[in-house]
Amino acid sequence: TGTLMTGKRGLIMGVANNRSIAWGIAKACVAQGAEVALTYQGDALKKRVEPLAAELGSNLVLPCDVTNAASMDAVFESLGNAWGGLDFLVHAIAFSDKSELDGRYVDTTEKNFSQTMLVSCFSLTALAQRAEKLMPSGGSILTLTYYGAEKVMPHYNVMGVAKAALEASVRYLAADLGRTGIRVNAISAGPIKTLAASGISDFRYILKWNEYNSPLRRTVTIEEVGSAGLYLLSDLSRGVTGEVHHVDSGYHVQGMKNEDAPDI
Ligand code: NAD
Repeated sequence: TGTLMTGKRGLIMGVANNRSIAWGIAKACVAQGAEVALTYQGDALKKRVEPLAAELGSNLVLPCDVTNAASMDAVFESLGNAWGGLDFLVHAIAFSDKSELDGRYVDTTEKNFSQTMLVSCFSLTALAQRAEKLMPSGGSILTLTYYGAEKVMPHYNVMGVAKAALEASVRYLAADLGRTGIRVNAISAGPIKTLAASGISDFRYILKWNEYNSPLRRTVTIEEVGSAGLYLLSDLSRGVTGEVHHVDSGYHVQGMKNEDAPDI
């Protein structure tokens, strides 16, 4: 515990359960004194998220589906009423039809392309539009991305295209919002076994590949992503914006497989 986030209030979106990356970030912020609000997508997740919020001492638990503008408006209205302002926002949201996280990217349908882009990419901008109004004297916005935005990863397909657009959005939002002291950054996390990851075919193989072939020779945890998130959300990173920060055991610097990597 510490005081890095004392006096800061943040909205954390994307907690589905205690394996969620957003949960790792929420825990890290609260341990440093932050006050947080959580959102959940749909009633099925409400009963999972409410006890987690209680663990963080939060009673601000709000429904939000980012495909519904009115539901996003309602969240920011509630926050305005409860807090009058906002210091940070975590966007840990992505979705694509599971059937297209397999096979060839070239076979992506228009319907799923649009849906994937809306939920996984445009939602950051839609939320930034609303957060800006509650951040008149600055703030920090953080999203989650993956190396599949930069390089072709098996089965990541349309999600890789959406993450590339998301990373570009981080840069454009950082440029637009920097004038008022709002910073916008992303963490590019290595593979972690979460609910969202279970939609990706052969995810176990990807985990093993990263374990054997990253410089640290292991995968990362949500607590490690949480620590990096804490840095980007706190004043420690006050000179940093528009950045995509890799928390992936160094995998992205690797040019070839490790010589000592066993066969998978
Ligand atoms: P997760 O399943 O725990 O979280 C995904 C969240 O997205 C869920 O809480 C879900 O409710 C939410 N969501 C989906 N559609 C939504 C909608 N329409 N409205 C509101 N919320 C919606 O999985 P996670 O792995 O923690 O994912 C969080 C973020 O991290 C995602 O952006 C994901 O792409 C990214 N990421 C994950 C990994 C990994 O290996 N797990 C690696 C890099 C980046």
